[in-house]
Amino acid sequence: MVIRKSRAEIERMRRAGRVVAEVLDRIEAELQPGVSTAHLDAIAEAHIRASGGTPSFKGYPGINPRRPFPASVCISIDDEIVHGIPGERTIRAGQIVSVDAGAIVDGWHGDGARTFFVGEPSPAVAELIDLTREAMLAGIAAAVPGNHIEDISAAVEAVAARAGLGVIRQFVGHGIGTEMHEEPQIPNFRTGRPGRKLEAGLCLAIEPMFTLGGYDTVIKPDDWTVVTADGSMAAHFEHSIAVTDNGPEILTAP
Ligand code: MG
Repeated sequence: MVIRKSRAEIERMRRAGRVVAEVLDRIEAELQPGVSTAHLDAIAEAHIRASGGTPSFKGYPGINPRRPFPASVCISIDDEIVHGIPGERTIRAGQIVSVDAGAIVDGWHGDGARTFFVGEPSPAVAELIDLTREAMLAGIAAAVPGNHIEDISAAVEAVAARAGLGVIRQFVGHGIGTEMHEEPQIPNFRTGRPGRKLEAGLCLAIEPMFTLGGYDTVIKPDDWTVVTADGSMAAHFEHSIAVTDNGPEILTAP
């Protein structure tokens, strides 16, 4: 069931979204060679809790019921697409670092992600990161009343197609509200079906995941980290947004 949110509920989601944006800002500021991913996670958790929120990823159930997600943010490096687990691993120059953060504030969720590069990226990697962000913004721009889910998917996919980037199919965007993952699903590629018609009050997490290779994925033995099957580099951007009669509103903006 797709749940439409009232204006007051959207404003409450904006509070959770702001915490997510602040977490990503703080991690970006700390990101440098030698910093441990556990340290970045600790900063994120402390900020979420100091803001009166709860980290929504911590304890989230995965494919292995004995291994819920153990951290507050996902940190995915190079060929890791999403769901990387922070830990002892340290950041090195020349790495692509994708950070996904989620917070619950007063029962409402925010979910957002950004991809950073530590140092100077190659032209191909710079284009991968730039176009993944651009595709997210193109998808957001298509999130207007009267359009359908397929219009978001097509807008995202068209940006990837310009540079022949791989579009991950296994993981998709989603509705968001009092649950992190609500209906509808939002593929980052055209499915040939219009999907739900968009109306004011729909809150959506739009999150393209692109690669420099193909779209096949593998889950590592930690039961969480999703990597490209071909070892190609990956990028991920995500905003939570609200569809409104005045156009899309980004909820995970600072
Ligand atoms: Mg998400």
